[in-house]
Amino acid sequence: MSKSTAGGFLLLLPGVNAELIDARPGHIQLHNEAGPTPVVLSDGAYRVAEAFDGTRTAAAIYEGLRAGGVPVPNVDFVSALAQLLGKHGLAEVLEAPLAQPYTRVLSRQIESLYPLRHTCVGCGRSCEGHYIGPLQDEFLNTVDAIHEELSALYDDLVGVTPVERVSTDQGRERMVLARRDNRCIYLGVDGLCRIHKHLGAAAKPLVCRLFPLDTVQTETGIRVGVVGRCYELHRSFETAPASTPSELTGIPMEQFPAAEPRGADLRSRSRLLLNAGPGSIYASTQRLEQHLVEVLQDEGFGLRAGLEAFYATMRNPGLSDEPEDLMAGTGFGARVVELLQGFAVAMRAELEGQTILEGSHNARVVELCDFLSALEVRPLGELGEAERRYVSFVLSNEVFLRQWVNQPSLPTAFLVGLCGAMVARWRAEDAGESGETSVSEPFAYSMVAWVRTVRTGDNFVRFIGSEEVFQGLVDALGSPA
Ligand code: SF4
Repeated sequence: MSKSTAGGFLLLLPGVNAELIDARPGHIQLHNEAGPTPVVLSDGAYRVAEAFDGTRTAAAIYEGLRAGGVPVPNVDFVSALAQLLGKHGLAEVLEAPLAQPYTRVLSRQIESLYPLRHTCVGCGRSCEGHYIGPLQDEFLNTVDAIHEELSALYDDLVGVTPVERVSTDQGRERMVLARRDNRCIYLGVDGLCRIHKHLGAAAKPLVCRLFPLDTVQTETGIRVGVVGRCYELHRSFETAPASTPSELTGIPMEQFPAAEPRGADLRSRSRLLLNAGPGSIYASTQRLEQHLVEVLQDEGFGLRAGLEAFYATMRNPGLSDEPEDLMAGTGFGARVVELLQGFAVAMRAELEGQTILEGSHNARVVELCDFLSALEVRPLGELGEAERRYVSFVLSNEVFLRQWVNQPSLPTAFLVGLCGAMVARWRAEDAGESGETSVSEPFAYSMVAWVRTVRTGDNFVRFIGSEEVFQGLVDALGSPA
């Protein structure tokens, strides 16, 4: 390293390999075939080195990592690490930043549970009912010009501030698109995006162009998959052509945003312990993830099998006890229905005063709430074959892509996912749909409204209010009728 790190742009060299060291959990070895000796870093130090993308100074890396919740002692630590890696031929200090950050997937692969398939039908319902963000600088730099252009065409946009700053569940702030009646301000009455319609797909925020694809960085690599939040996904998840991430989104891989780190430990989601020891919470969460995905993908999966797997997981992994009659008496079924009704009242109250456009996400949530409010305890029901494959797809991707990170735990998220499938089956049953050969609209819309609604921490808590309530459900699953 010929230059001081101060003011220079730090780059971990493209030829560097990173390997997990089996004998030393939590440590990673970096080496460069052309360099002198390898360097062994702790997982924490590796996270810092991984941020040397050629576009940021030591100070900017320090600020960025701290903002992302990665513990870094001080900026001198970043500089000292760069010096150390430089001596070993693993890093360089550049005088000018690279045009694009050099991002890497070190000794790890991109994994997906299923081939990537999806056909967008332009229904517009993905643009409602949630924050649309985080917005990248690239879009934030152009949004004023976009807004001005569209304001000349649409009166409802005149005088509206297009973006807003919000706090996430993790207490961080991010920029999102402004909404009106729970919908993106750019969503037209015809269900089409007005940015896309007038300025082209590339003018939209990255988050919109990527949907319904999600990429997350985990300890085992980057995971990619189609998330179950699209209302029309049931039509194409098995039949659309298998695509690469770029084909699906129209975004070249090098322009993909860095995958968001989602660690297995809920106490520190942005931290990835790459080589976790066998007794650690990381390793046990990874095993549980794998187990639940296997349960969901098993051909014998169904509502009852899912609940039994959940019960065995909570009581003691490996137990083969079977829950008693699930839906009889005052047991599990009665408790779930009571919770669902309370949830429906809370959600309905939240929508009070909002415009409910026909066919919109809000309308789907209202339909679901009305159904739940009138619900009485009834037999569990069983998924038809087409429904089974759809639920398996949606819930196993929820687990695999760690969509549950805003919820209290993986087991609670799994149970809540199963409850969504129970309700969807009851609605399909009322509509006279068997779900054997195809997934009906009542089933799919119910499932998607559920998955999207319970996704946020607040709504989740509205359903399963406390640890005691959750424990009560577990007990009820195994108590005599
Ligand atoms: S910008 Fe367009 S695609 Fe993105 S949420 Fe708004 S309407 Fe939908």
